Amino acid sequence: MGSEFGIERILWTEQEIAGRVAELAAEISGDLIGAAGPPAVFVGVATGAFLFLADLVRRITLPLAVDFVRVESYGSGTESNGAPKISSDLKIDIRGKHVVLVEDIVDTGNTVSCLIPHLRTKGAISVSVCTFLDKPARRKVHFELVGEGKFYRGFECPDSFVVGYGMDYDELYRNLPYVGVLNPEMYNK
Ligand code: 5GP
Ligand code: MG
Ligand code: MG
Repeated sequence: MGSEFGIERILWTEQEIAGRVAELAAEISGDLIGAAGPPAVFVGVATGAFLFLADLVRRITLPLAVDFVRVESYGSGTESNGAPKISSDLKIDIRGKHVVLVEDIVDTGNTVSCLIPHLRTKGAISVSVCTFLDKPARRKVHFELVGEGKFYRGFECPDSFVVGYGMDYDELYRNLPYVGVLNPEMYNK
């Protein structure tokens, strides 16, 4: 059984993703060039953001640091339980630094609205959010960025459960180089 098993349709191909990631990296690089202070810290939300973070930072044209946080909110289903908990915190001291929080997908907004105040409390002078996908139709929680922080997004995502390019269903499909809609038969059993 290949990794493609259960994919109903492809939303963004590997080439489309690469093109958009390059655009985002150029935009963020341009914004960071003008920002005072030490190198920015790109904080990936594990595990889903790992491929996006890796592709994004390779195209940022400035010195930067990389770290991860881990947040538990999902379990193995397809619905957020609404109460994210930070289960693994930063290693890097972000006091006085610009932080770019890198997410695979902002859905209800619970995860970023838990992480942004946490990063502010740790002394970040700005917190931006760079999410590969944005599902505004499902937003439940409003979030405020910190300082001069901006919201960057790769693509607006339809209201379907998607996998690939780092995103999983029950820890599988993360290795797909494209993003596709998972056939609901895979989880409505
Ligand atoms: P939130 O609801 O807190 O904004 O999103 C929490 C997390 O749920 C996201 O970072 C992502 O990891 C996961 N998530 C939300 N929508 C999807 C989806 O369509 N597919 C997958 N694989 N994960 C999703
Ligand atoms: Mg995530
Ligand atoms: Mg997941």
